[in-house]
Amino acid sequence: TYVVTENCIACKYMDCVEVCPVDCFYEGENTLVIHPDECIDCGVCEPECPADAIRPDTEPDSERWVEFNRKYAEMW
Ligand code: SF4
Repeated sequence: TYVVTENCIACKYMDCVEVCPVDCFYEGENTLVIHPDECIDCGVCEPECPADAIRPDTEPDSERWVEFNRKYAEMW
């Protein structure tokens, strides 16, 4: 899965939402989030983010971001 991270806070760009083929972005408290079970790992959103907030979960430290994204995505 890809995850939305801290750079998304208060970002008003929605470029990522528009390109996602499976519509797995949801609105969190201060950020958008990606539903980890719905993301198909296509990667097209990553370069679209002007704030550089979207990362693959293969990066170090990504586990807490997966949980963060899941928490808010599952509220919908
Ligand atoms: Fe959507 Fe692809 Fe980004 Fe996952 S990696 S959130 S499926 S655009």
